[in-house]
Amino acid sequence: MRITIVGAGYVGLVSGACFADFGHHVTCVDKDATKIDALRNGDIPIFEPRLDDLVAKNSKADRLKFTTELKESVADADIVFIAVGTPSRRGDGHADLSYVYDAAGEIADAIEGFTVVATKSTVPVGTGDEVERIIRERNPKADFVVASNPEFLREGAAIEDFKHPDRIVVGIEDERARSPMSELYRPIYLNKGPLVFTSRRTAELIKYASNSFLAMKITFINEMADLSEAVGADVQDVARVIGLDKRIGSKFLNSGPGFGGSCFPKDTTALVKTANDYERPLSLIETTIAVNDRRKRAMARKVIDAVGGNVRGKRIAMLGLTFKPNTDDMRDAPSLAIAQALKDGGATISAYDPEGMEQARAELPFLDFCHDAYAAAENAEALVIVTEWDQFRALDFTRLKQVMAQPILVDLRNIYRKSEIEPYGFKYRCVGRPHEE
Ligand code: NAD
Repeated sequence: MRITIVGAGYVGLVSGACFADFGHHVTCVDKDATKIDALRNGDIPIFEPRLDDLVAKNSKADRLKFTTELKESVADADIVFIAVGTPSRRGDGHADLSYVYDAAGEIADAIEGFTVVATKSTVPVGTGDEVERIIRERNPKADFVVASNPEFLREGAAIEDFKHPDRIVVGIEDERARSPMSELYRPIYLNKGPLVFTSRRTAELIKYASNSFLAMKITFINEMADLSEAVGADVQDVARVIGLDKRIGSKFLNSGPGFGGSCFPKDTTALVKTANDYERPLSLIETTIAVNDRRKRAMARKVIDAVGGNVRGKRIAMLGLTFKPNTDDMRDAPSLAIAQALKDGGATISAYDPEGMEQARAELPFLDFCHDAYAAAENAEALVIVTEWDQFRALDFTRLKQVMAQPILVDLRNIYRKSEIEPYGFKYRCVGRPHEE
């Protein structure tokens, strides 16, 4: 099949490379000429494990192309995906659909022959109707149907998630979309996760319901972590044991500094806005957002407490800045609020992240960026693990103690145990587990 993907970001690029790997002919279109130039030269503008090999392999096989020119590739395509960003709109928190609607307008001008236009971007309920209206109004002769095909991949494991999904959801209002969308995903659902067809509005809501539920699950265990600290329980045991109940499940029960990233914060907010518009407020999700927002600065207070209640004039080292490991994505990362709160308290902050420092530099210009964990730890009064990159799981604590001003580890991801750290003479603080000195 001939596929065009509009928007070559985290989702568009991974989807394009994976569809090409299935044997489809894919063109990724992006307005950002620098991005397209880089991709044509074999440079991947984002960090995503194994994506470079997949792009190289499929570009070489002539199944994956990159362009800034939408018109030609849309004219040739059987299916055109919209995979542009839908960030929070400044001011009111609704999803900003301007990129989606602009893309729809450009697609309308270029459609030739029967085409499925499928929205991969996360979009509020009813956006498919509007995309359809825009295309019909702009090009009344166009022969097309609009489907919703939300994407569930996770950054850091995006290729694996795309190729082995738990489910693929396609929302359609016109039966003519069913066969091409089934054909497109045949290589996946023949072996693995089910392909589920729903109505278009249902598919749009499924994506938000899914992300909001996961955000709520994380927030639940974070609150249990706070309670565990207060009552002297161990939240990791709580999570492990409640997770053994199949109705609950073990995933997304790691307590930490709060959820962040390019999806959960904006999607929970957008869902709350939609619900308010329909006069069906979602109190659980509203509370989830509020609890999570409070939590990020509370993590900075945990660091301040660990160094004796005051960070003014003190150096604090942060390890990990991205919202999770194996990505360079800094969007809404908890590190942003934590670093700001420490700075507000008067701290000087050094930091190291394996992949996110270039992006972090723009957002956190006041950090001293270092080339590794040990350089960041130099003269620090506390070392704070913010993101659980693998390379922070086996730190050399003898070396760290030599370079730090005070041996204090604040482990916001619970990747160590008190019993492992204390023999090195470190004071250890974590989340939701006993840590009394
Ligand atoms: P992104 O910002 O990384 O990429 C979007 C790309 O679209 C950019 O490169 C931008 O230049 C391009 N673009 C915008 N308007 C364009 C136009 N008219 N023509 C051509 N290109 C255009 O965004 P992302 O993280 O890939 O997210 C895309 C969508 O997928 C969002 O709705 C997001 O919520 C959703 N999503 C993201 C993830 C994730 O993990 N990042 C997972 C699932 C779903």
